[in-house]
Amino acid sequence: MGPDYTPVEAIPKIVDDSRKTFQSHRTQSLKVRKEQIAALERLVVENEDAINNAIHADLGRRSTFEFGTLIEAIRALKNHDMDFQTKDQHEKGEKEADKAFVRLSPKGNVLIIGAWNFPFLLTLEPLAGAIAAGNTAIIKPSELAVHSMRLMMQLVPKYMDKSIVQIVTGGAKETGALLQERFDHIFYTGGTEVGRIVMQAAAKHLTPVTLELGGKCPVIIAKDADLQKAAMAIAGWKSTNSGQICLAPDYLLCPKELQPALIQQMIGVWHHLYGENPTDHDDYAHVINQRHFERLVTLMEMTKKESKMVHGGRTNPARLTIEPTVFTGVKLTDTIMKDEIFGPLLPIIDCESMDEAIKIINTTEYPLSLFMYTEDDANVQRVLNETRSGGVSVNDIAANFTNAALPFGGCGNSGMGAYHGRYSIETFSHRRAVVVRKSHL
Ligand code: NAD
Repeated sequence: MGPDYTPVEAIPKIVDDSRKTFQSHRTQSLKVRKEQIAALERLVVENEDAINNAIHADLGRRSTFEFGTLIEAIRALKNHDMDFQTKDQHEKGEKEADKAFVRLSPKGNVLIIGAWNFPFLLTLEPLAGAIAAGNTAIIKPSELAVHSMRLMMQLVPKYMDKSIVQIVTGGAKETGALLQERFDHIFYTGGTEVGRIVMQAAAKHLTPVTLELGGKCPVIIAKDADLQKAAMAIAGWKSTNSGQICLAPDYLLCPKELQPALIQQMIGVWHHLYGENPTDHDDYAHVINQRHFERLVTLMEMTKKESKMVHGGRTNPARLTIEPTVFTGVKLTDTIMKDEIFGPLLPIIDCESMDEAIKIINTTEYPLSLFMYTEDDANVQRVLNETRSGGVSVNDIAANFTNAALPFGGCGNSGMGAYHGRYSIETFSHRRAVVVRKSHL
């Protein structure tokens, strides 16, 4: 137990208080919901420097992306017509005089468990959805991004109504204690194994869950791909946050003849972004901790033996950085293809046709996102019809995430449920079906 962690014995009362506040119906008031969203916006805007410094201390990166995406998400909800609870969706009744409608009602007291790789975004964006929908919420940021966790511990009670939004800090033990308690919804972001633990705990109380998990996101490079476009986006997403992004390209399926040009262009992008040696560059994020650094170095050494390293390989153990590293001739049975990489290692598998790409993807768990580069709509339609994944971006990486009008979430092993924009409100609401009959008819 860390010194900043919530004592386990305090957790039942925290959850009980959250439930009692919800049962007071206060959070259903439009005024209260608007106040809480405005408070969350102030929390973020007024602490931009502190937030960016905490992210830098945890991950070594400067984060205009995380800050900008978070503030846009909060403002999108603030500008959304939040009066939805009085805007029932009316349907035709069985009898002329009947009223039949669907009312969105908040789920109740919700638990939000965040991950470390975008510590503010992955904790506070779901929170915005939960309070906009009229719930009370307990947030549990990741203990691995410790500076971000500590800053949230200071800011959340300072800005938010303490009876509506509470923060619990800790690791597996404290999260385990939270999961013993009863919630009306649990929203979890993190790895698949812990996702199973969360879902099992939720089953005890039949609590619905949203699981935002990870997996291996493939990139299909078709023969007609625009290689320059592909190289820019793949190299960018694989090196931002040192590839510790759930939507980073995990591996490429690429015709052999295109590989040399694609790799050369990616090297050019990395050179432009991080100079001669990324492992020493100020803007190049480091791996979150020693354990993950060692995991990735071991994986790199293993992959060197199983395939061919064609670029990269340098590390800086003092800074916990690993250069973007590319492997060719990777086989599906190689170690690097077993689990999500979550780091700056990029395996390329020879793949000569769309048939082959679809076949390979269908031997894997459903990815969080699938990316493809092609100018041919027939290829796009085939992939949409013949594979499954949480989302898809064609001729870009993660565009299905950055477009806030779209639901973001996985399927199968990469998760269940979705959020962003109005989908966040739906996730944290129940669709209540109501019929009002005129009694004298
Ligand atoms: P993590 O270690 O921060 O864990 C996530 C949360 O689970 C933390 O709050 C942690 O305290 C809690 N936790 C850890 N062990 C637990 C246990 N035994 N019992 C209960 N709670 C526990 O993050 P991580 O899992 O290393 O995150 C990386 C993974 O998250 C990757 O697989 C990545 O793809 C995925 N991810 C998914 C998304 C998404 O939006 N789909 C976003 C970011 C990360």
